[in-house]
Amino acid sequence: MSTTVWILGDQLLDSHPALLKAEEVAQGGEIRVLLVESKQRLRRLPYQRKKLVLLFSAMRHYAARLRDRGYTVDYRMVDRFSQGMEAHLREHQPQRLLCMEASEYRGRRYQRTLESRLGVPTSVLSNTQFLVGSYDPYPDPDPDKRYVMEHFYRAMRRHFNLLMDEAGEPLGGRWNYDDMNRKPLPKGLEIPRPIQFPPDEITRQLIDEVESSGWGVGNAAGFQLAVTHEQARQALEDFIAHRLVDFGPYEDAMSRSDSLLYHSGLSPYLNLGLLEPAELATAAASAYLSGAAPINSVEGFIRQVIGWREYIYWQYWRQMPAMQDVNFWDARRSLPEFFWDARTPMNCMQAVIQRALDDGYTHHIERLMVLSNFCLLAGIEPQQVNDWFLSCYVDAYEWVMLPNVLGMGLYADGGQTGTKPYIASANYINKMSDYCQDCEYDRRKRTGPGACPFNLLYWNFLIEHESVLRASPRMGPNVLSLRHIDDEERTRIVRQARDYLQELGSGPDP
Ligand code: SF4
Repeated sequence: MSTTVWILGDQLLDSHPALLKAEEVAQGGEIRVLLVESKQRLRRLPYQRKKLVLLFSAMRHYAARLRDRGYTVDYRMVDRFSQGMEAHLREHQPQRLLCMEASEYRGRRYQRTLESRLGVPTSVLSNTQFLVGSYDPYPDPDPDKRYVMEHFYRAMRRHFNLLMDEAGEPLGGRWNYDDMNRKPLPKGLEIPRPIQFPPDEITRQLIDEVESSGWGVGNAAGFQLAVTHEQARQALEDFIAHRLVDFGPYEDAMSRSDSLLYHSGLSPYLNLGLLEPAELATAAASAYLSGAAPINSVEGFIRQVIGWREYIYWQYWRQMPAMQDVNFWDARRSLPEFFWDARTPMNCMQAVIQRALDDGYTHHIERLMVLSNFCLLAGIEPQQVNDWFLSCYVDAYEWVMLPNVLGMGLYADGGQTGTKPYIASANYINKMSDYCQDCEYDRRKRTGPGACPFNLLYWNFLIEHESVLRASPRMGPNVLSLRHIDDEERTRIVRQARDYLQELGSGPDP
């Protein structure tokens, strides 16, 4: 009996459950692995070109790896995914199809219809790329209940026994070291450079293909990312050895001179299956236990991996498909043009957008407190913001971006994912970065010529949504500060914000 194992491009696991299952059930019968590069899927949005190179190069290296392990691989490059699947079935006529659940809604829906559509007995196995697949703290979530990431995270820590003592208490005596982890970057700090991977023949060919296709944003030249499991593991070791130690204190810091700082930069590999979450969490925990890294850095990193990432994936599946259309603030403005060329006098926005366009990466605080903060304050339509992030970020997939951008960043799901809207004025950006120092806007001004747009839009947002925000226990204190603003100043804020948004060319005033 011949078996086809269909492996999706973002499921490049070393121990893929469908491959393991095939070995178990094939009983000497033929096993073929199907991998499909679909142009149509990749042209859904104008993706950052390094993202396209990363995905295709990792897929092609994975195919070579499986061939080295003795598998027969059918690697198809087609316009539409269904062409590749149908041609494979016609040519090889497998008696059984095995695959692993897609991480994303559309993919999983397609998998469920495969058997009836194509007439091949199909088994869709549980997704093992997320720890929450093997342990779900809330397996039967109440649709009317608000869930909190902190509780989810603690349940995951306990279950997977990460940084826990024998009495079941957190090592170090605390669950959370946020008070030690909010430092701005001191001047003159020497930050270790991350390991880079010069492109090999396969990757060089892809860079040429992507550049000559004319499709996408940014450029593929200068691509230095890992594309194999071995390289991804080297990147993990490099992070643990050189940057984890200072990850905690500076995880919220932003700098004009450096994008990565002490962050791991491992999310693109994790989201493709080149690394697995347990591997990252265990490596970080071992660094603490051996004395190589302090508890605040290790806890902060593990929180990102088994807390935030798993919670985001859990929220995605809890809220889909409704999550695609959420718009709590009824935000209707179009995404400003400068998101596609970084031409804005705002230093912070210019630098962060330019990085996203050039390299497809900025760390999470720049995503949350600069880009999403601006879009929330400016009333940009959530779905347009989400599409921009999906286009530009090398680690962006729908399952992470919908809850992260719409949920956490824009609070467009009305607090299902996060507990408060993350909004801030120039004060925060100035405290955590060096962007304001030579900006042509004045970070101290709220209105009048040269006032920082973050200030203007922040206060305008508080005025516009005062009653909603007042009802939120976590936002109440912010709104209380409106008491110190007299009617005249309120009118100035609202007028200048309206003029600013109109000038921005970001669509009609709702
Ligand atoms: Fe950004 Fe305002 Fe600071 Fe300029 S002054 S860098 S626009 S926060």
